[in-house]
Amino acid sequence: MGRIQCPIHGHQGIAEICTHLWKGFQNQTFQKTRKIPVLGTWVCENCFTKNKAQELEGIKLEDIFKMSKDKQDQLEKEISLQYEHINKKIECIECLNTFRLNAAKKNGEQFPFEPFENTLMYKDNEKIETLKKLLLSNFKFQKSKIPYFNHFDSVFLKSGGISYPFSITFYYVINKEDQIKLLKLIDDFFEHIPQKQRKISFYESENWIIEKTANSTTESKGKEKLLLEKIIK
Ligand SMILES: [Zn+2]
Ligand SMILES: [Zn+2]
Repeated sequence: MGRIQCPIHGHQGIAEICTHLWKGFQNQTFQKTRKIPVLGTWVCENCFTKNKAQELEGIKLEDIFKMSKDKQDQLEKEISLQYEHINKKIECIECLNTFRLNAAKKNGEQFPFEPFENTLMYKDNEKIETLKKLLLSNFKFQKSKIPYFNHFDSVFLKSGGISYPFSITFYYVINKEDQIKLLKLIDDFFEHIPQKQRKISFYESENWIIEKTANSTTESKGKEKLLLEKIIK
């Protein structure tokens, strides 16, 4: 799946969306939103019915997963060809989520996810950097054990989106007093920040799993023990 660099949300996943729907979102007219099964393309009602996308609704995802890789690719190709002519564009998934939330508000519908509208995002990167410096200058962190890198401190700040909060993740800070000290530093910092929604997690340690095969090495993270979590909504 592709990625995109969004000026508001940073490095994000992508969503494919028909131009009518996107225009409707931008003009705040918010027509009905449909999703083409299998492809996951977001389209307006007109694109959906005109292209007989409802016929795809009989195809179950679990059946597709059961198919061989070749069959899956072939099916995806056939479906892509059928919808190739729909005028569509690629957008940041969190921008799409912002519009979906606004549409739900306007139409009095249930929210599609729990919103975090008041959180530090990529566009607030300066504030995030200031907080990071504050933490590093007040606490001696252990180095992270990310494979092949040994110079990162084991504290990770990740900007938020509209569907998830700004987060700070600590490792190896297991002493309760140290945790309280860091939480206090963060609380004091946010006194002067209007975007207060945040998630703070303390994990006992990192759990990197390195798998080596004949041709490649992959790194992934296994389950990690959460010691303390604080979410400000
Ligand atoms: Zn359309
Ligand atoms: Zn975005």
